[in-house]
Formats: sequence, structure tokens, C-alpha cells
Amino acid sequence: MAHLAIAVGGDGRVSAQTAEPQTNSAVSAYEAVIGLEVHAQLLTRSKMFCACSAEYIGKPANSNTCPVCLGLPGVLPVINRQAVEYTVLTALALNCEIPEFTKFDRKNYFYPDLPKGYQISQYDMPLSRNGWLEFEVEGAPVRCGITRVHLEEDTGTLHHAGDVLQSARSSLVDLNRAGVPLMEIVGEPDLRSAEAAREYLVRLRQILMYIGVNDGNLEQGSFRCDANVSLRVRGSDALGTKVEIKNMNSFRAVHRALQYEIERQAAVLAGGGTLVQETRGWVEARGATVSQRSKEYAHDYRYFPEPDLPPLALDSAYTERVRRTMPELPAARAQRLQEKFGLSAYDAAVLTAAREDADAYEALASQVPAKLAANWLMGDVAALANERRVALHRSGLGVDGLAALLRLLDAGTINGPTAKALLEELYESGGDPAAVVQERGLGQLDDEAALLAIVDEVIAANAAAAADFRAGKEAALGRLVGQVMKATGGKAQPQLVNRLLRERLA
Ligand SMILES: [Zn+2]
Repeated sequence: MAHLAIAVGGDGRVSAQTAEPQTNSAVSAYEAVIGLEVHAQLLTRSKMFCACSAEYIGKPANSNTCPVCLGLPGVLPVINRQAVEYTVLTALALNCEIPEFTKFDRKNYFYPDLPKGYQISQYDMPLSRNGWLEFEVEGAPVRCGITRVHLEEDTGTLHHAGDVLQSARSSLVDLNRAGVPLMEIVGEPDLRSAEAAREYLVRLRQILMYIGVNDGNLEQGSFRCDANVSLRVRGSDALGTKVEIKNMNSFRAVHRALQYEIERQAAVLAGGGTLVQETRGWVEARGATVSQRSKEYAHDYRYFPEPDLPPLALDSAYTERVRRTMPELPAARAQRLQEKFGLSAYDAAVLTAAREDADAYEALASQVPAKLAANWLMGDVAALANERRVALHRSGLGVDGLAALLRLLDAGTINGPTAKALLEELYESGGDPAAVVQERGLGQLDDEAALLAIVDEVIAANAAAAADFRAGKEAALGRLVGQVMKATGGKAQPQLVNRLLRERLA
């Protein structure tokens, strides 16, 4: 008897018969239909329904809890006003409608990280709906619909005594995270590739960080994403069998998992097989999605209105008040900086990636030439920030210190190599670049007569190089410039040295 390849899910149920992806040839016949669900923790000081701190990382287990978030009987939740405001702000940034009436509901299910036996969430009357997010993928515009942005509470965390739940002898529950305000952003299935899905997430995260509601940490899970993926024959409107993918903890993981899943599904369909509606988890080490549970029977969460919370009536005056607190969003800011400072679209996108970067660029570009500011921020400063793992605005030098340094460079007081050395030296310690230059006599040597004397000495001492240059070997000039720079302790202006050497050797 032939052996059948069957996959058994985490719950022991037999699920999909999975053909491993082998080629890309099957993929081109199909179009991917991808929708993303994002859960983003809100940066409020307290939890969603109690006064406990919403900061839960690095705290002793269960130290950050109270009767409300422990789900003890007889307690009453109170809605966090700031969380509602942040969610409305997010919804507005995503072009959503804000209905004048919204309510919370109980989503009932049993799991040890959920002490009440239900999660307070929103079911049929979410805080917002019908929005969209626009961005570009490989130069082509994409508009992805936003079904809804609603508000709920996070669960606690489980620590399994073993690598995975299946082999664990016991599991420990930590409820510090239980009740942290959580926003769910449900996207329409408008994405058609793994690249588009990644770009959607990058842009969404950027907006949440710009408006200051979320810290965007995928690794620690304050910004997490699940994906629904199906395939259909290109040109068809029919929807295929949907597979949900979980456990993607980086943009790279999202891209790889979706690419894998598209190829897996295409291989199954091209081979005449059928797909099973199921949940699959991305396993980074294997570079594959693995069946977790079949979804043949939809969960029945027995949603009903939360009886302990009043419905919320958010009138248009409230919504307008929140709208007025909206900062300039990244796409608009990139566009404006492009026009104001003559940046390329690429440079504008890089310089506005984070709000702090855009702030730094605008502050610098108002004091030194815009191109100089852009070159330094995207070159030496970016490299240093990356290497030392400290952003400019958090460094000792700071934006003001860098502005002072670039003013010295722009005025010709110091040369490029000196500026670079000072940047590296003062980046963490900080200090006034002008004072350091004064103190150590780092000012540029721009006395032509003094420099000419050095140039003549160098030419005399390097007769061979001088002869080479006179014989037409341009490269020889570089050696002579280097010698003059060395003789001046790096303080000469390289362009001036260049000119003087050429004049002397003419
Ligand atoms: Zn609490």
C-alpha cells in the first residue's frame, strides 16, 4: 500500500495535504488575494479598562495587575479616554468614517491567557470603518481599503516550559500584558503580492509612529500582523480557499511567508489538488508555513454587547477636535520637502522615514544648504547611527550639534575630513564643535602663501610623482594632494591644494 502524505495540525486534526513549493511556473497562472489584519498596542500610560500601567516589558510576572485585569468577579471596567482618542486619530489618518455611535462587545472564548473568559472587543459597531491607505509598489500606485479600525484589549502571555506548547510539561501565565489597549486594523483583501503586503505594513507602521500612537516594534509584538491569502485564476473574480498565516515577526518574515504560501497554494492547485481552509504558522527556521489548525468550523464567539460599559456617542465636534491634533503625515511631508528643498523622491522618502528624521532634516536644511544636510544625514550620520545604535536625535551631539558642525563646514572654517572626524568624536559625548575647533586649532589652513610654501616642499620631495603628473598621469596628482594634506595635519582645503599644485606643475 502506498503511503499518503498527510499533515496533522497542532490540535491533532488531519488537515491539508501539502505539496511543497517546487517551481515558480505554477504561480504565474494565478493571482494572489491578500488581506492583512494588524494588531497595534496603543502608547497610553494606563491599560484599557483599569489604572494599571500599560508598560509590561521587563516587569516581574503578574506585578502589573489589579482585580480588573485579573478578571476577578464583581469588578467594573472603565474606558480609557486616551485609547479612544488614539484610535479615532488612527482611523482619521487612514481616511475612515467615524460613526456617531459605537459600543464594546464581549468575545467569548476560553484560553489561559484570558482570565475573564472573554475579551472586550468591538463586533458590529466599531469605532470606524471604510477607510483606505495609498502607497506605491515598484512605482505603481496601490490603494488598499481599510475595513475597520476598532479597539480591544490585549491578552496575557504564556511561557511554556519547553520549546513549544506540544512538548511542554507545564505553562506559566503572566497577566502583565492583559488589558493593554489594542487597536485592530482590518485591511480589505486588495493586495496582490508579497511585496504589496510588505509595503502596506511599512506604510501603516510609519503612520502609526508618526501620529505617536504605537512604537512599531514587530519583534516584541507591539505591532503584529496576520495575513489571509488565497489564489484565483488570473482574470477571475471568484475567491479561492482562504488560508490564515500567523507568527510573522518581521517585515522580512511577512514577505517570505507570503511568497512561500503563494507558491505552495499554486503548486497544490496546479497539481489538481484542493486547498483546505486553515490557519498556518510561519516557521522561520524552516522557511515554511506549517498547518496549525483546520478552520472547517468557524469559531462561535457568542458576541454580545458588554453590559458593564456604556456605548460611546462620539459627535462630529469630538471627531473634529481629534482631527485638529493630526500631525503632517509621512506621504504629505515627503511631498512637501521634495518641493521645498528640491529633493529627489527617493531622498525625500528616506529623509521622512521616521518623524524624528524629518524633523532633523528640516531643522538642518533651514541652517545650511539643503543638499549638504541631505548628504550628511543619509551618509555619514546614518552610518554612524546604525553602527552605534543611537539615533541622531537621541545622541549627545543632537540635531543642534550637527547643525553647528555643518555650519562650520559650510563656512569653510573646517574641511570635510575634519568635520567627519568631529562627527565621530562628538556623536555620543556631545560638545560644541566651534569650541573644539578653536581649542585645538582645527581650523582650515586657507592662507595661500603658507600653503604654497608647503606645496613647493612636497613637489621637491616627490620629484617622481611631479614628473609623472607633468607627463600626463593625472593619478599622480592625488598622491601629491595626499602629501600636502598630511603635511598640514589634514587642515588644508583639498580643492585649494589641488588648484595650487596644478598651478605649480603647469
Ligand atoms: Zn489592572
